[in-house]
Parts: sequence; C-alpha cells; structure tokens
Amino acid sequence: MARFLVISYVTVLLVVTIYGQHSDSSYSIHGDTTSNISDIESRQSGPDLEFRYHDHDEMTRYLRSVSASYPALTALYSIGKSVEGRDLWVMVVSASPYEHMIGKPDVKYVANIHGNEAVGRELLLHLIQYLVTSYETDSYIKWLLDNTRIHLMPSMNPDGFAISKEGQCNTIHGRHNARRYDLNRNFPDFFKANSKQPQPETEAVKEWISKIQFVLSGSLHGGALVASYPFDNTPSARICRSSVSCSVFQSYAHSPSISPDDDVFRHLSLVYSNNHAKMSRGVSCKSNTPSFKNGITNGAAWYPLTGGMQDYNYLWHGCMEITLEISCCKYPPAHELPKYWMDNKQSLIKYLAETHRGAHGFVMDENGNPVERASVKVKGRDVTYHTTKYGEFWRILLPGTYRLDVSAEGYLPQEVEFIVIDSHPTLLNVTLHSAKRIDTGPYYRPVVSRPPPAPAPGFLTSISNSFQNIFSNFFG
Ligand SMILES: [Zn+2]
Repeated sequence: MARFLVISYVTVLLVVTIYGQHSDSSYSIHGDTTSNISDIESRQSGPDLEFRYHDHDEMTRYLRSVSASYPALTALYSIGKSVEGRDLWVMVVSASPYEHMIGKPDVKYVANIHGNEAVGRELLLHLIQYLVTSYETDSYIKWLLDNTRIHLMPSMNPDGFAISKEGQCNTIHGRHNARRYDLNRNFPDFFKANSKQPQPETEAVKEWISKIQFVLSGSLHGGALVASYPFDNTPSARICRSSVSCSVFQSYAHSPSISPDDDVFRHLSLVYSNNHAKMSRGVSCKSNTPSFKNGITNGAAWYPLTGGMQDYNYLWHGCMEITLEISCCKYPPAHELPKYWMDNKQSLIKYLAETHRGAHGFVMDENGNPVERASVKVKGRDVTYHTTKYGEFWRILLPGTYRLDVSAEGYLPQEVEFIVIDSHPTLLNVTLHSAKRIDTGPYYRPVVSRPPPAPAPGFLTSISNSFQNIFSNFFG
C-alpha cells in the first residue's frame, strides 16, 4: 500500500570526509584544511581577477591563490591530466568545501570542453571570484554556499585552448583535444554504440562523476546563444550522406528527442535563459543560423549528436545536465568579457539553485541503516536514479503529485506518494523492509541487480518501441 509522506524540509547536517561516500579518493586537495569561515575576514585581500584570458599557468596560479586566500570556502583538486599533461582543475566553492554534507547536493559546471570556446572558461573564474567575495555580504550567496557544494571546472580541454586564437569566432582550430578527438562526442552513448577511442580528459570526467553524486550540471560552450537540453541523440541517429532516403532520415533526425524529464529540463533551461540578459529573446547569431524560441532547444531538435556529455550525465548517473551556449563568437576579444560576465552572472547562480527543487531524502532499512544503490524511480519517468552510500537521493521535479518506486536487492519494494511544491524541496524518507522474513507473496518481485554504468533497460525498451512505432507508421 502506498504511503503518503510529506515531511517539512529539515536539513541533516552530518559531515563526512570529502568523497567519503566513495571510499578512498585519489584526488588530492590543494590548500589549507584547517581554517574556518571566521578566518575569511582576516584574509580579505584575495587575488584580483582581470577581465582577460588566462593561459593554463595563469589560471593555475589564480586557482591556487584563491584556495590560499579563501581556505574555508574553497578546495582545489585535479581530476586528472590532459593528453599533454595539463591538470584538469576543479575548484569547489562551498561553506563545506572539503566535505560532502549528507543531505545536501553537489552540483557542477564544466567549461571549455571545446578548447576554442573560451568564454565559459573565464566566466567560471569570475564565478569563483564572485562567490567567494560575496559570501559575507550577500545573503542569497551565503544560503547557496551553505547548502550546496559547487564544483567548477574552468577547462576540460586545456590542450585545445592552448592552441586556440583570441578573436577567432567560427573556426574549429583548438576545438579538439591534442589527439584530435572531439571530447563532446567521446562519451558512451545510450542510443548508438560509440566507437571513438576514450580520451584521458573524458575518462577523468567519467571517473569524477562516478565518484560524486552530482545532482545538477551545466556544460558551457560557445558559438550560439541557447540553452540546450537532453536528449542530444535519438534512436534514429545516423550519418546522412547522399541518398534520397537519407534526407528523409535527416529531417526526421531533427525532431526533438524527448527525455522522460522533458518538463524539468525545459524548466531548467528556461531558468538559465530567462535570467540571461538576452538569451530568452531567441535571436539567431547570424542570418543563416537558427533562432530558438525563448532561447532554449531540445538538443536533437537542433542537431543530433552521438557521445555527448549531457546525455551521459543524465542516463548513467542521474545528474541533470544541460548545454549552455553562451556566446555567438567562440573566442571573442578579451575586452568583451565584462559584457559576457554581466549577461550570464545571474543565470549561472540561479541555475545552480534549482538543485534545491523537487524531492530528496534517504532510503534506510528498518534499523535506520542507509541502503546504498537502491533504485529510485518516479512513476512515468523511466530513468532510474540510485542512492548514495548514505542512502541519499535527489530528484529535481516541478510542483505536482508523484509516486516513487524504491527497490533494492534483498528488500521488499516500496511505493511512496508525495507532493512537490514550488517554495521548498520535499524531504522524503523511505524505509525498506527486508524481504527475507516474508514468504514470497503476490507483492514481492525480486530485484535484478544490474552493472552500475548501464542505464535502466526498461527505458531503452520503451524508447525503442515508441520509435519503432513511429517508423512503422511512417514507412510501413
Ligand atoms: Zn562546444
């Protein structure tokens, strides 16, 4: 029988070691771990950050300098190295930079995955600067950092950036990594096998997001002005060459590829677009490029691609990521950077705060012990999320009434009805009872465990079936 649980939002403040939920971490933290927030005032003179492009060494110096000046708000770590040996830096900005706070979400931005799309790289440096200098004076930023761990990766492709040229708006020089791979085509793909050789930058990111349960993410790009949301790929993904039938497929391929969380992804994209100075106007960058209604688009409706990062985040790890195209010119002159910062500042902050929307909570056994890797699925949304080592889960949802299916191997499955309201997240605690003491009855369904990286097979089945129906209706 379904249980109706609506519990007021009570934060659980248990502090564990950084990445503690994933046992030992290979990431080493740079900085002073002993300071607390009261130390900030005595270190007011943090590093300056000019509006200009910073090469890898300059960026590294800046990040180290911030972590030294704001040790109670920041932690700097590298998730690995690029092909040419440059660190893939991540700066955590949070009131708890070194430690995951149980019950509070981790979120991220990744920029410069295409090395010549340089604006996002600088904007993330300015976002770091803004967050650390506003904590004491801006109550909203204080609330955000007190309740969220924000991980910022200014460059996922430092090698590509190193050969890119300021002022080049539309070339692809510097887009790829040092081995000429497009990193945003280098992830495992749900809809089509991706035969591209995995690159060190991609492997590092895959390991990173498998170690930390990120709830929300943005990938910053350039060359357009739009917030693009999953899916990027479609079940009909194929390369069009010259045949007549191919052109039919091509037009079909530009149809939206709708995810089970389409309403949420649209909302998240609109939050970015509507808080941006001009994105929501949907004006095209050039006369021969598309315009986007309200400044948002489904990824595949714009153009389908295989091996993208946002579909991977969502389907493999339950992290809702969208792609943010924030500049018509990929690498504009540095004197334009203040304008880009002002255009995006509000968006960058408000978007991350959306992680505090929907439902979150804990799955525990009858003794109050957390159940790790329990499957958490909202009815009608055929994507499975999993609990962390501490039994935590997060599900960003719009206001409404939902039912949650929770199951784990060795436990009786549980169905819970809950509501989501606009003003604050719903805390939802679920207790699973051991299946061992009960004879197999009509309500017991054994749970089949699946290997961690694969998304739920039910999703594949439903998508494939629906598209097979479309195909047979269209061509049959
Ligand atoms: Zn790009």
